[in-house]
Amino acid sequence: MKLEIVHYPHPALRHVSKNLKRVDAELRDMVAQMFELMYAHEGVGLAANQVDLPYRLFVANPTGDSQNKEAEQVFINPVISSGKGQMEGDEGCLSIPGVTAPVVRKEKIAVEAYDLTGQTFQGELEGLFARIVQHETDHLDGTLFIDRLSPAQAAEVRDALEEFEIDFTSKRDCGEMPTDEQIATRLAELEQLRA
Ligand code: ZN
Repeated sequence: MKLEIVHYPHPALRHVSKNLKRVDAELRDMVAQMFELMYAHEGVGLAANQVDLPYRLFVANPTGDSQNKEAEQVFINPVISSGKGQMEGDEGCLSIPGVTAPVVRKEKIAVEAYDLTGQTFQGELEGLFARIVQHETDHLDGTLFIDRLSPAQAAEVRDALEEFEIDFTSKRDCGEMPTDEQIATRLAELEQLRA
């Protein structure tokens, strides 16, 4: 399956993913493709929803450096168990390219997840990595960073978001984009495969 990044307002971005119960070779291939797409678009994190997959997983590399394999991390079924402090910082999203805005996140978090080998791992994260994990975990719950903006910040990005909405509608109109129902059916089928 060849993966591509979907853009706001694609419905896959609003899909709430259930926990993955099975990791297989095809899933590992998808994860490899997700890292490639993330680097190609100069990102530091990419969630399954963003490549039209209904899986509770995301990939991250806070260095953004494709050569730095040590810094790569796959988070499967991540759970953020605690958070401390608050920090505001600019965020962007590969599904809303060109749009950035300040978002308030927890400064420090504890996270637990599975890796690709099925082992659990825990981490105490802070700073950028903590921000990435909060942003990506949000994706798995169908939440985008634009949902977390202050009313004033939301107003600032409104025009840019409308451009994405117009683009999406025109793709629909010329048949390049499946209907909401087709998208939902496909996601449900894929989800069932590894539930
Ligand atoms: Zn994002």
